[in-house]
Amino acid sequence: MPDSSTSASISTDVAIIGGGQSALATAYFLRRAGINYVVLDDQPAAGGAWQHAWDSLHLFSPAQWSSLPGWPMPGTSAQYPTQDHVIRYLTEYEKRYEIPVHRPVEVTAVTRREAGLLVSTDKGEWHAKVVVSATGTWGHPYIPDYPGQGSFEGEQLHSAHYRNPDAFQGKDVLVVGGGNSGAQILAELSQVCHATWVTLEEPTFLPDEVDGRVLFERATERWKARSEGRPGPAPTGGLGDVVMVPPVREARERGVLRSVRPFSHFTVDGVVWKDGAHAHVDAVIWCTGFRPALEHLRPLHVLNDAGRVDVVDGRAVLEPRLWLVGYGEWCGFASATLIGVMRSARLAATQINQYLNSLEESTP
Ligand code: FAD
Repeated sequence: MPDSSTSASISTDVAIIGGGQSALATAYFLRRAGINYVVLDDQPAAGGAWQHAWDSLHLFSPAQWSSLPGWPMPGTSAQYPTQDHVIRYLTEYEKRYEIPVHRPVEVTAVTRREAGLLVSTDKGEWHAKVVVSATGTWGHPYIPDYPGQGSFEGEQLHSAHYRNPDAFQGKDVLVVGGGNSGAQILAELSQVCHATWVTLEEPTFLPDEVDGRVLFERATERWKARSEGRPGPAPTGGLGDVVMVPPVREARERGVLRSVRPFSHFTVDGVVWKDGAHAHVDAVIWCTGFRPALEHLRPLHVLNDAGRVDVVDGRAVLEPRLWLVGYGEWCGFASATLIGVMRSARLAATQINQYLNSLEESTP
């Protein structure tokens, strides 16, 4: 690791920023191509965002449909593996492929240099010919603005920081957000407190037999259609639609899987609904999603108005030495899933290999 007290930086061909599933999938293909690379991750341990998921979170796909390249995820007795199982798998995966992860290392900025990109971190600098950003979204939770939010004296918690229902026993809780997080947290909370589900529109529930496998097959169908230049199937069944995992099905049997449209504003101790009625609220769990964690790329002036990066097949349009992996459909079909990220990771590694070879050929 560079010595942060000196200005010495370590040179590498590729620096992968982030140490979650997307980084590991990319590392697998770079390693296979014999490319010299490092992984820089700000977490103290392996597992990326999975280390911060709530206790009862399960995958929405079976183990064999949640595998990174090269090594299928070991099966479990449960139909859908737990987040602990995913963390163990990612931890073992790093060891299995001897992936050189430096952690905890927080990347603070990526800047242009003559012959590459300088990756500045809290532990010193790396000088790379290529950077892959795989920092995910967990570090950038999104909470919408509501009038009066600042004066509300109840608790507000984003799903990224929710662990279990214990602290909410017997309370009045709003669960805001109509995706998988909202449905799964509502299912759990509604067993111990008065939970009200607030969604912008009626949530879309996938048929019971549709889980991550089908979502991946549909994303693959769209990807194939696009690569063959033909109109693909309507993008029905995206990651935002609710997969009917067992706890959510159980909540439906209990008749609690009903949502209401948003309130108009907060008061000190609750909310006022659109019809003027006031409701007392102790806590709000914001299951309102995430934005890509890309602050470290700001010095490159590649972020667009949507807070993303314009890419073609994952490669940044404004900085051809930068690739992005794992942030969702905009940088690769189903790339924000364990099984889906393989395609984006392989494509990025192939392009990086071609780029490095071209550098070598052009170097006298
Ligand atoms: P992350 O896992 O977030 O890893 C990024 C890493 O980069 C983290 O360690 C982060 O700390 C680190 N990092 C960030 N910024 C910096 C920096 N500046 N410097 C250094 N390191 C940094 N996916 C599935 O495949 N199957 C599922 O069943 C599934 N269920 C889900 C259920 C829910 C409720 C949610 C919210 C997500 C689910 N996902 C599922 C999606 C999956 O959890 C994420 O897409 C996945 O964690 C993304 O992996 P990643 O490696 O891209 O990002």
